[in-house]
Amino acid sequence: MPAHVLILGGTTEARRLAAGLAARPGVRVTTSLAGRVARPAALPGEVRTGGFGGPRGLADWLRAHRVDALVDATHPFAASITANAVHAARDAGVPAVVLRRPGWRPGPGDRWYDVPSLAAAAEALPGLGRRVLLTTGRLGLAAFAHLDGLHFVVRSVDPPDPPLPRDTRVVLARGPFTVAGETELLRAHRVDVLVTKDSGGAATSAKLTAARDLALPVLVVRRPPLPEGARAVPDVAGAWQWLGLGEGPDTPG
Ligand code: NAP
Repeated sequence: MPAHVLILGGTTEARRLAAGLAARPGVRVTTSLAGRVARPAALPGEVRTGGFGGPRGLADWLRAHRVDALVDATHPFAASITANAVHAARDAGVPAVVLRRPGWRPGPGDRWYDVPSLAAAAEALPGLGRRVLLTTGRLGLAAFAHLDGLHFVVRSVDPPDPPLPRDTRVVLARGPFTVAGETELLRAHRVDVLVTKDSGGAATSAKLTAARDLALPVLVVRRPPLPEGARAVPDVAGAWQWLGLGEGPDTPG
C-alpha cells in the first residue's frame, strides 16, 4: 500500500479518488491543481496548486515529497501535464498510471461530426449552423474568434478571456448538467449546432442526449493520444486496484 499518493487533478474522478484515499488510514494523499479555476470546490486530503515547472520540476517534487505512487487523473485534453507526468515518474522511479475515462461514442439518432482539433471544428462550423453552443472550455476560444456572422453561446465555469467571436453570449455554469436543463438551454438560445470536446463521462454528457432529441448536429473534437508506453485505467476502481488497495473505494466511478 503506497504511503503517499500524488493525484494530478481537475476532474470528478480525481475528486472521488482523493475522497477514497483520504478516508483510508495510513495513506497520505495530495491533489495537485493547475490553478485555472478561480474557486475550486474543497477537496479531501492535501492540496497543492500551480505548475511544477515542467517534467523536471515534477520529478523533483515527487522525490522531495517522497511520493510512492502517481495517478494522473487530469482531463483527457490536458495533454502537456500527462506527457510531463509520464516522463517525471520514469525519471524519479515512481510508479504511475493515467486515469483516463472512456470517450463518448455516438448512438442511433446522433448526428456527430468528428474533428481532430478546435481549429478543425471552427473550419467545419459555418457549414453546419449559425447559432452555436460552444462547450469546449474557456481556453482555446481564439480558434473561433474570426467567425463573424455566427452567434455563439459560450458556456464555461469562469468568464472567458478575449479574443472571443464578435457575437458571443457567455453562460457561466459548472456541471453536472441534466438533459432537461440542456434541452432548455439549447431551445432558449435557438442553438442549431453544438461543439464539444470528447471529454467522456456522465457529468457533461446530457448535452449530447439533448442535441440528439432536438436532431442537432454535434462537432466532436477527438482526444489527443496518450503518451507512448503510458499505463492507463478507465475509472476510479481501476486506479484503486492499481494502487493495490483491493476492489474499490466507496465512491466508485
Ligand atoms: P495542460 O495543457 O496539459 O497543462 C499545461 C501546464 O499546466 C502543465 O505543463 C503544468 O505546468 C500545468 N498543469 C496542468 N495540470 C496541472 C495539475 N493538475 N497540477 C499542476 N500543474 C498542472 O493542461 P490544461 O488543459 O491547461 O488543464 C489544466 C487543468 O485543468 C488540468 O488539471 C485538467 O485536469 C483541468 N481541466 C482541463 C480541461 C481541458 O479541457 N483541457 C477540462 C477540465 C479540466 P508545469 O509544466 O509548470 O508543471
